[in-house]
Amino acid sequence: MKIAIYGAGNCGEYVIQEMKSAPISKIEVELIIDNNPYLLGRTKHDLPIVNLEEFINIYQKTVECVLVAVWDLLRAQEMAVSLLNKNYNNIYFLPENMCEGALPVLAQDGKLMPYVKHISLCKPVLPYVEYHVSDFCNLKCKRCGHFSNLVTEKVFPDIREFSDTLYELSKRFRNIKMFRLMGGEPFMNPDLGLFIYEVKKVFPYTDIRVVSNGLLLPQISEQTVEAITECRAIIDISQYPPTRRMIEKIITFVQEKNLKIEIGEEITKFFAQKGLGTAEDSERIWTNCASKKCHFLRGKCLYFCPAVILFYENQEFLELNITKEELHKNSFDLVDGEENGWEILTRLLCPFEFCKYCSDKEWFDWSISKDQVRKEDWFVE
Ligand code: SF4
Ligand code: SF4
Repeated sequence: MKIAIYGAGNCGEYVIQEMKSAPISKIEVELIIDNNPYLLGRTKHDLPIVNLEEFINIYQKTVECVLVAVWDLLRAQEMAVSLLNKNYNNIYFLPENMCEGALPVLAQDGKLMPYVKHISLCKPVLPYVEYHVSDFCNLKCKRCGHFSNLVTEKVFPDIREFSDTLYELSKRFRNIKMFRLMGGEPFMNPDLGLFIYEVKKVFPYTDIRVVSNGLLLPQISEQTVEAITECRAIIDISQYPPTRRMIEKIITFVQEKNLKIEIGEEITKFFAQKGLGTAEDSERIWTNCASKKCHFLRGKCLYFCPAVILFYENQEFLELNITKEELHKNSFDLVDGEENGWEILTRLLCPFEFCKYCSDKEWFDWSISKDQVRKEDWFVE
């Protein structure tokens, strides 16, 4: 079996050494794929190093499959997606603990170990998801990126619908690297603990975060503390000026309850968009967008980012004209849709049509929404 190794770094080196030192090998490495321009035209262990374009255009027919060889799982997935985008799908992955355990790549019969798996047998890991457990927020910042300062009622999502959607997500992804429960203010929801348990039940290895402005933290119930502790969730505190003013109380509470928090620098600026974007500029805007990896779960759908569904829901206020069809094109229906995890991941990692609604940012001092809220708070003219 002739193969290509994708990745000329330490992991690729490990795989080549493993194959060379095996007493019996039925695998021949023909070439190495690597996109580092410095390595182009060079060789390693007498194997030519080519980039992805060259592999697809010239070499793909000379090998039976590509073995992705990098230690980092998310990077390995991105490399696999770069092949899938070129319609190449005969891809194999190493197991995640290959490096720590110095595991053999070849079995005694000289073939690939059964734990070196074909892509069709591996569900991917979704790097990140966020979910509103409460649209309502107690702080109401002007220009809230999630439009929570427009929300006047405490209405919370349905836990059964959440549970069903998580189950559908788990059919496509074997894990979610980080799952952030947020809002709005998540501690507004008295059932927050149930949502945390649900995530832990369906995705036991996910890194659960509760994203909060911290103001209600010292008053949360014992049940909520218990859920956070039992599920090893971490509270991510966004440090707005009012949060900063009560930071002593917050930290004292966290220490008393032995909770784990992560706290960023004080947030003093919020942004608005410089008007609406254009389809021509959308790829550049996506490339520079900090939200492009913030995939958003709402109802039974997964959205590329929160803007897709939150612009849609607030379109009357924002004076936008977003059709249902556009919404469908920029989301994945987890209950009625048919895309598998790899198909979803392949699309999530690329610019998408909806980015035409976004443009460059203009920054303003952080403040509370006091006067009448206007669409110009989000789209400056
Ligand atoms: S605290 Fe966060 S969710 Fe609440 S209004 Fe401010 S930015 Fe929005
Ligand atoms: S639609 Fe695109 S550009 Fe706009 S916030 Fe989402 S990812 Fe960023």
